[in-house]
Amino acid sequence: MPPMSIPPELLASLKDDNFWRSLEAITKKAEKVMPELTAASHKRGDSGTLDQRIEDRSEFARMGMKLAAITGSALLDPGCVPRQQVPVPNGMTHCVDLVNKIVRKDSGRPGQRAELAKLPYLLKRIRHLLRVFYNFKVGQRVHPDMAFCDWRQTFDVGLTLHQVGLCLQLDPPRLRAVMEAGGRELEAFLLDEEMDVGDFRKAAMLVEQRVAADVEAEASEHMAANNIEQAAGKDLAAHVMAWFYGDVSVAFILNEGADSTPDEKRWAQKAMKRLVRWSTSATLRGSLGDSLTDTMRPIYWSTPVLTRFCQAGGLAALFGDWVNSSCRDLCEDALKELPDTAWEKQTSASLAAITRELQAKLNQETDEIADTPIFIDACFSMYTHYGLAPLQKAGRRESPQDPVVFYYLAHHLKRLPPPANTAPQRADFARLLADYTAMPLSMRKRYGWANLTIAGRWDSLDSYGCEAEGCPELAVLEQLRARRVRGVREPAVERRLEEWGSKAMACKACGRVAYCSAACQRNHWPTHKPECLEHRKANRRV
Ligand SMILES: [Zn+2]
Ligand SMILES: [Zn+2]
Repeated sequence: MPPMSIPPELLASLKDDNFWRSLEAITKKAEKVMPELTAASHKRGDSGTLDQRIEDRSEFARMGMKLAAITGSALLDPGCVPRQQVPVPNGMTHCVDLVNKIVRKDSGRPGQRAELAKLPYLLKRIRHLLRVFYNFKVGQRVHPDMAFCDWRQTFDVGLTLHQVGLCLQLDPPRLRAVMEAGGRELEAFLLDEEMDVGDFRKAAMLVEQRVAADVEAEASEHMAANNIEQAAGKDLAAHVMAWFYGDVSVAFILNEGADSTPDEKRWAQKAMKRLVRWSTSATLRGSLGDSLTDTMRPIYWSTPVLTRFCQAGGLAALFGDWVNSSCRDLCEDALKELPDTAWEKQTSASLAAITRELQAKLNQETDEIADTPIFIDACFSMYTHYGLAPLQKAGRRESPQDPVVFYYLAHHLKRLPPPANTAPQRADFARLLADYTAMPLSMRKRYGWANLTIAGRWDSLDSYGCEAEGCPELAVLEQLRARRVRGVREPAVERRLEEWGSKAMACKACGRVAYCSAACQRNHWPTHKPECLEHRKANRRV
């Protein structure tokens, strides 16, 4: 790996005590809010008046903003022009207030149907003004309608629409009235038209695909792709709208029942399809952020609904939100209760996404997660429904930096001792995963080595194999590596490389280092002795 260069301005800030003090202060403040945020994520809003329930359910978004105010978020930015006492006619504040009034305050009043019929226009106007705002923010594109972007904080727009969406979800007759008045135009807006992620996100997706597909792409091209991706990340138009879209989509899904009309059945089908796609697409997750996860909580709370969602292809979203979202806690509860039937009807793409999330969980936290019921159940269910293939595929994908858990699991499942005619049981999975987490580092490295490609082995000479300084075999291999010509395979050399890595024997006292020969171990002992003692102490503590 080439030495990482630190940009000069970062280096300067790293030497600055104030920088560290302010970072520490921010972390402390943020840590205080975290438990409140988690508590808010569990608020289901299932009792009290309609307004009280809406408040309860939107508390999670508010707490998220409280955290964002500490760590900094572009959602707290003002619009292009300041919000006036009297909002700009046909401007953002005017339109959002009107949507809120029509749906939440004027419900059941005479003439309401005519009012509700204005909703498609108002919602499109809101979407348009967000686009104008972010085209300017991200791409400095000027548009005359910037004069209508009058809001105090972008979050206000998202929150008000979120509460309107919740109102429609918690009061099904109101949703029905809105859909009847809004007709096809509203249905298209809510359930057919694509989420507006902006030109920058679309460009970033194209560049990413092109660079990823080109094996000869140079570092500078990866950097360029990365820069476009970062710029695209500043476009929050979809993130702001996701609360409203999500709330209404979830409403259609929750409302579906035996007595649903054909219209309601169609809405529910479309809503399920789009929620699955939005929540499982890696690139869309990037633009939608936690606001989509927030709105999906009712799905995660209800086992029957969650099962349907998983069978429609959403299972990977649940694992993804468990790994990386502010609803981790809640998703963990849902995973503990997840029935085996939720694993039915998965595609190979969805299984690949699930195993990738499971690997990410170990990478982000600790390998010991592999020895917990959620992980064991996931691997066992995958196996009982789809056999060894998804585990093997995940194992082959494991890079030198990844945990080798799927490679290990698939490798041993194939070699289970008799009775071989019975399929492996959950207990076998539990035992293998417990063995995996208890395995000493040197042994884990040996599995990693066995799973590497030839190119990967040459690249990882320094991180695998014998750890003695001045190992003579390593010196030879380094010379052979330097002489290597791409495209010319030398089986004898490759075998030598393979043997050196797989022969590595662990230090018997600590199990943390490995050597290719007794001579290497002896030579390294003076260096290793003090750290060996430390390792042994640490091993006893575990
Ligand atoms: Zn050696
Ligand atoms: Zn040792």
